Amino acid sequence: MLETICDIMVDAYKRNWITSRDGNVSIRHQDRDHFYITPSGVRKQTLQPDQFKKIGIEKGYYGQPPSMHYLPHVLDYSDISKNLVPSGELPLHFGLQREMGKGDVRVVVHVHPTYCIAAMHAGIDLSTISSKFPELNRYTKVAPNVGDVPPISQELADRCHENLHLDSYGNIDYDIVGIKGHGVVAIDTSPWRAFEHIERLEHICQIVLASGKF
Ligand SMILES: [Zn+2]
Repeated sequence: MLETICDIMVDAYKRNWITSRDGNVSIRHQDRDHFYITPSGVRKQTLQPDQFKKIGIEKGYYGQPPSMHYLPHVLDYSDISKNLVPSGELPLHFGLQREMGKGDVRVVVHVHPTYCIAAMHAGIDLSTISSKFPELNRYTKVAPNVGDVPPISQELADRCHENLHLDSYGNIDYDIVGIKGHGVVAIDTSPWRAFEHIERLEHICQIVLASGKF
């Protein structure tokens, strides 16, 4: 599936959802205590499976009094990926991958689609437009927007997790969330399924903006 992730990022680039080095994706299989994430700063038009970073999920009781914590650690994967570092949005992905919730595979895709960002910039909460468009809300549950938060921050990760209703077992109530002035995060069981949530929401945002009624 790493190859499929490379394919969707090429497609995302062609659709103007990212510039060359933007965007990041992670994938985890439920029966494994690690996941893969795209490296920081590589050109997505030429992304290769052996450039991914492999991230171990460590779980243990730390602190006083001890409480359950999860820690990410970089594992060896390929010679090429040794010289790369994980995406700066690792906190966002780690929080969504450390516990899986339902499903055997979880894919998290973060990109910057033009019309989703334009709609949020115009003051639209993406969760409110979905109710008016049945072809969107039949297949894609849209969370309330996350407000202005700095990119590659724990705050961005925490607000996204909160608005997606991520619980301690890894369950999530929504398929996609928008981050104002920045982009979207979509989650599903395959790269193309996550991609389709973005595609559907982007299409409706384009329609709403074209109508001028919002
Ligand atoms: Zn971003």
